[in-house]
Order: sequence, then C-alpha cells, then structure tokens
Amino acid sequence: MTRRTYPPQEFSGWLAGLRSWAAKCPDGDGLWRTAADQGLLSLAVPESAGGSGAGYEAACLALEAFAEESGLSGPPFAMAAQMWACQEPLVAFGSEAQHDRHLTPLLTGRAVGAFAATEYDAGSDLLSLRTRADRDSEGRWRLNGAKTFVTNGPTADVLIVIARTAEGSALSGLSAFVVPRGTPGLHIGRDIDKAGLAGAALCSLHLDDCVLDDSDLLGGPGAGFAVLMQAMRHERAFILAPVLGLMARALSQAVEHARSRSQFGRPLAAYDTIRQRLVRMHLSLTSARELLHATARQADAGTLDHGRSSLTKLHVSTEFNRFCQELPDVYGGYALLPETGTTALLTDAVASRYYSGTSDMQMKIIAEGLGV
Ligand SMILES: Cc1cc2nc3c(=O)[nH]c(=O)nc-3n(C[C@H](O)[C@H](O)[C@H](O)COP(=O)(O)OP(=O)(O)OC[C@H]3O[C@@H](n4cnc5c(N)ncnc54)[C@H](O)[C@@H]3O)c2cc1C
Repeated sequence: MTRRTYPPQEFSGWLAGLRSWAAKCPDGDGLWRTAADQGLLSLAVPESAGGSGAGYEAACLALEAFAEESGLSGPPFAMAAQMWACQEPLVAFGSEAQHDRHLTPLLTGRAVGAFAATEYDAGSDLLSLRTRADRDSEGRWRLNGAKTFVTNGPTADVLIVIARTAEGSALSGLSAFVVPRGTPGLHIGRDIDKAGLAGAALCSLHLDDCVLDDSDLLGGPGAGFAVLMQAMRHERAFILAPVLGLMARALSQAVEHARSRSQFGRPLAAYDTIRQRLVRMHLSLTSARELLHATARQADAGTLDHGRSSLTKLHVSTEFNRFCQELPDVYGGYALLPETGTTALLTDAVASRYYSGTSDMQMKIIAEGLGV
C-alpha cells in the first residue's frame, strides 16, 4: 500500500485551509459531506485504496485542527470512529468490490460507517459476544443477536458487525460482516440518550434473521478477531486526536478569562494558584499531544502495536481528565454556565475513559505486554 509523503509546506498550507473551513463549518446535515470534501476522511487511507495517502499523523493533525477551530466535540469523534473502526478494517481486509461499494462512498462523505461489536452482556468482556451467524440450507449466512453503543449507528449506511460463526476460540470463531443499511432483518434502534459528545449519535441494533452472503464477509470466515484487532489498534491510538484540539481551545479561552477577569483589584492571572493551574493544563495537553503524535509516526512507519495503542489511549484520556479537573477552578461559578464549555468538556473527559475499551482494560493490555 502506498503512503504519500506530503512536503511539509504543501501539508501545512492544506491544514491552514482546513482550519479556516472548520472555523465556520456548518454544524448540521451538511457537515459530514463538507468535511469529506475537505479531504478530512481520506487522509489516512492509502492512494491504492482511494485515499490521499497522507498518513496517520496528518489525519490526527487534521482531526485536532477541526475540533479546535469548530469547538465541536461529537462530530469529530463520530468521524474519527468511522475512520479508525470502519474505514481502517475495510482498507486492510476489504476486497476490491467492497472498496468500490463501501469504502469509496465513506471517503467522499456520501455514506456514513459504523462498527458494531459491543453487546449488552459483552462490554469489556467483548469476546463473549453472542451474536451468531449461521449458514442456512442455501449456504447463506443468517445473523441473529443484538448490539449496543454503536457510534454513528442511527445514520449509518454501512456497518461492520462482529458475529460468532464457530464455537471455540475467538481467534477463529468470530467473523466480520459488512452490512448495508436496509438489509432485511437489520433493525436500527432509536438514538441512545446520553451525556456528552454532543452531535455524535449512538444506538442499538437488532439482527433478526439478517441474511448475508459470503461476499459480505470482511476478510473471509473466521477473520472477525483480526478485523476487531485492526479496528481497535487504530481506534485506541487515534480516537482521542480531536480531544487535543478541544483542550487547546479550552486552554486559550481559560487564559483569556484569567487575564480579563479581575478580583481584589488584580487579574486572576496574577494569582499563583490560577497560573499554576494553567501551567498544569498546558503540561497535560503537551504530554498527551507528544505521545499521540509519536504514536501516529509509528503507525506511518508501520510499527504500531497493541501495547502502544493502549498506552496512548490510557495516557491521553488520563491527561484529558486531569486537564478537566483543573479547568473549572479557573472560572469559579462561571464554570457552570454552558458558554464556558467546561461541564460539557468534563463529561467528554469521563466518556473518554470508557469508549474503545475502558482505562482498566488498557491497563490490562499494557501489563500483559510487560509480562505481568
Ligand atoms: C461514547 C461511546 C461510544 C461507543 N462506541 C462504540 C462503537 O461504535 N462500537 C462498539 O462496538 N462499542 C462502542 N462503545 C462501547 C464501549 O466499547 C464499551 O462501553 C466499553 O468497552 C466498556 O464496556 P461496558 O460499558 O459494558 O462496561 P463494563 O464492561 O460493564 O465495565 C464496567 C466497569 O468495570 C470494569 N471492569 C470490567 N471488567 C473488568 C476486569 N476484568 N477487571 C477490572 N475491571 C473491570 C471496567 O473497566 C469498567 O470500569 C462505545 C461506548 C461509549 C461510551
């Protein structure tokens, strides 16, 4: 697969254009399509699969810039979920026909993608999932079961669904299916009412004798675990890229507030308690950003492993939470007003500890990598 290296000047010019678009982008129906028109969704996809081949670091910088300039949290999260958990497995395991039918519309914003693995009884213990796909007498697959917490599910045109096709080890007993919206037997549930990530929609799915063919398998029968790992390796590494932009935006607004509001005749920024809070927030952002970008460079070099992805997810979400513990104290009572964005960011920080595997699960993966 070819990855194009953009000369720095060419890429920084493109990124500046993306920033000006994001600063005034429509928050609504047209957003997904115009983001795709900017090239946002196809940066990490190799040219051989129809992307721009700019790579993972470029894609992360773009997601960060999009969130920072727009101030939106849900839409960049939802787009990142598509990029890492839906496009990435399609690139790695999809046939040419699947690229033409499913990947190309995702890259151009004509379709929305989702990834459905989690079930009500299979959250952290994902490999105990019970959705089944069985061969019928005509040799077709019949999917039965239910999924939940499916990001983009309510609007998805194409969903990657992980199901059990054989007993025994998940290594060979799981398969991944590419399920187009409208497939008979696929029932898309109502939006899940949730806190945080405003603008990102989640839902449950029910599969009730949903009939699919071998051509709908991603990577062939028994490739479900590999597909899941491909999705998680990239999602855990990069799902928090937009959060870096949200932290940067919140930090500059907090600095502005500390400089402009005075108490006891001096600006808040003159008080060491406030200054130290802002410095700790800056430190959280910087260390989160450094690690995520270095991880993206590893992915560009083809050396990203699961331990590194988990380390990145754990560290960035931890620093995001630290940052959000400091932020309200810069504003005092004004932290409770929606216009400061403080409580919304705090809720997003809590969510970041759970999606793509909880912090406990990242810790478990990292510990296993250490041999303990
Ligand atoms: C905003 C959001 C978007 C999501 N999007 C998707 C999506 O698009 N597709 C998808 O398939 N899923 C998605 N998920 C689901 C997500 O992956 C799960 O929520 C996550 O894996 C945790 O599962 P759970 O919520 O069932 O928690 P549980 O597994 O019930 O865990 C509850 C608590 O127990 C802890 N715990 C569990 N087992 C252990 C253990 N062995 N040792 C120590 N502690 C343990 C956990 O760390 C956690 O703190 C999303 C979730 C959220 C919140």
